[in-house]
Amino acid sequence: MNSSAVSIDKKSSLKTITRELYQGLTSLFFPAICTVCDQRIDESKTVVCKHCWSALKVLSADIVEAKPTPEQLDAILPVFEFEDTIQKIIHGLKYSGYKSSGLHLGRLIAKRLSKGYLLKESILMPVPLHPNKKRERGYNQSLYIARGIAEITGNIIRDDVLKRVKNTITQTHLNAHERHENMRDAFAINRCCDLSGITSVVLIDDVFTTGATMNAAAAVLKSSGVVSVCGLTAAAPI
Ligand SMILES: [Zn+2]
Repeated sequence: MNSSAVSIDKKSSLKTITRELYQGLTSLFFPAICTVCDQRIDESKTVVCKHCWSALKVLSADIVEAKPTPEQLDAILPVFEFEDTIQKIIHGLKYSGYKSSGLHLGRLIAKRLSKGYLLKESILMPVPLHPNKKRERGYNQSLYIARGIAEITGNIIRDDVLKRVKNTITQTHLNAHERHENMRDAFAINRCCDLSGITSVVLIDDVFTTGATMNAAAAVLKSSGVVSVCGLTAAAPI
């Protein structure tokens, strides 16, 4: 090893020691607190504790099957029950910038997928936000969920195909019919995109309620020649 290599090596180990010391001191004076249950977290890289992650309830097959599949989708799969814990996790992901929660949620979703739901050739497409909302939030939360899924499954993500062209009003107080009307013509395909070769798409979103949003996105994909469009979401209410 020459002298410059030794000095680079010394520098990088000093950097590591400094960083670890800083992290140690930070966690001593400002211990990480779980954003869901307010308990102290030992690992500094997460904002949700292990207990809260393991408290997520997987929806049973009966409940999922009982949900009507919107007409443009070939299948829907919400993974967890939309209760207090996941509601807080998704809220943090959307409104507090906790992108790491989206990634971890995606990993947990991927581990719960039955064989065959996600084909090798299925392209993951996070449901896009309207540009105004994306500017406001700074990012699309569903992209982080998709990235967590892809980390485990190896599927390709395309977030450049779909675009949201209608800045829809919030759907919270709308009934199923109103939600479908609200979402009509909300999506389009980016003109520069070549969809040839894409036969199967799995749309990724945070919560499935009536499926109006994913249905509208699926409609434009199908009218552009995509054969199969399924929906995969982190949660759905029972
Ligand atoms: Zn917790």
